[in-house]
Amino acid sequence: MSCLRELVKESPLGSSDTRALLKHLVEEVLQWPSSALITRDLETLPESFISTWQSYCQRRLKGEPVAYILGYRDFYDIRLKVSPAVLIPRPDTELLVDIALDFLQKKLAQGQDSFKVLDLGTGSGAIALAIASTIAKNAPHSQVWACDKSLAALKIAQENMKDLGLKNVKLFESDWYSACESEVFDLIVSNPPYIRAHDEHLSLGDLRFEPQSALTDDGDGLSAYRAIISQAPDYLVNEGYIVLEHGYDQSEAVCALLQSHGFRDIEVHHDLAGIARAASGRLR
Ligand code: GLN
Repeated sequence: MSCLRELVKESPLGSSDTRALLKHLVEEVLQWPSSALITRDLETLPESFISTWQSYCQRRLKGEPVAYILGYRDFYDIRLKVSPAVLIPRPDTELLVDIALDFLQKKLAQGQDSFKVLDLGTGSGAIALAIASTIAKNAPHSQVWACDKSLAALKIAQENMKDLGLKNVKLFESDWYSACESEVFDLIVSNPPYIRAHDEHLSLGDLRFEPQSALTDDGDGLSAYRAIISQAPDYLVNEGYIVLEHGYDQSEAVCALLQSHGFRDIEVHHDLAGIARAASGRLR
């Protein structure tokens, strides 16, 4: 007869994966609060709980990411549905949301009360929806446009938008700016595929299960930045702002591209590990 204490003790998984998966099962299958992991750890568990736990363990041991097993990932202050059609939102990417919201906050303080934001390659919708859910309160007439070239990804983003009850987001199919027509935005954000072709990370860990088109440009890792930055001036208002996530060794290259396409006040932003992880600039 198994109890939570025993499952934890005998778990074939690492402690953080064990905790994340058991917490989910405790909350969803048993409808217990997560504190039950401690307070009810000696109670006998139903057979259905044990069999689901065992199947989770088998999937995880084969390498499947925890977020795909659970079907969701928490990001910023929202919960996002995820599937193998989309990149799993990373904590690092929350930095991009912070930078974007800072910019919008400053503009609000200067008296602008409505914004148009564009998220290129939105995937699950993480960046766009996190921004949209915050500005829905502060700047309710604003609109976040979010595109992806993958229809399967857009379907997930659409479900997330619906689940969050957001009305200020426009999702559309587009290969970077191809379907943006003559729209102009106050802010462009993107976390494009930036891993080089054949980089060993692509065949390690969670990345093996994620859509390759969201991870790598199949080139030198910079082709998305060339496409996004070179055309950005056509889609930004005067004084418009761009924020891009990039790889750990791409800060110089991305800043140089921004510089050469007319961006000023270029800033390097560091992630929690102290690595230069995003670049921003203002169009003048
Ligand atoms: N941040 C991801 C990783 O390094 C890559 C995502 C991307 O290419 N935008 O695992």
